[in-house]
Amino acid sequence: MTDCIFCKIVAKEVPSQIVYEDDGILAFKDINPVAPVHVVIIPKKHILNINDITEQDVKLIGKIFVVIKELAAKMGVANTGFRIVANSGSDARQEVDHLHFHLIGGKELGNKIG
Ligand code: AMP
Ligand code: ZN
Repeated sequence: MTDCIFCKIVAKEVPSQIVYEDDGILAFKDINPVAPVHVVIIPKKHILNINDITEQDVKLIGKIFVVIKELAAKMGVANTGFRIVANSGSDARQEVDHLHFHLIGGKELGNKIG
């Protein structure tokens, strides 16, 4: 999508601090981190949010979680703990309408959910 900031990051039209990339997945540091480790993991193809995931995306979404596991280890939070957040829609205050998973850690995290 032309006016999607994350598609622009995928296309390298907008710079980002990439920490992982393969054919279908990109991970980069969040521009406004809420913790010492705050990485955003996205599918390269434009999926709006969890509501738009289909059966065709099963492998892709599964791979994203393998990447998350590897990144948690690489960023040094696998043993200390981390949180995965995927905001979907307005009540969740999703700001970027391109499916993404926040990997957050590196400190004791506060309020759990909601
Ligand atoms: P959400 O509220 O779940 O939609 O989160 C969107 C996230 O994308 C926020 O944490 C933003 O800080 C982050 N973000 C927005 N623009 C960029 C960018 N250009 N590079 C890195 N992260 C970004
Ligand atoms: Zn997009």
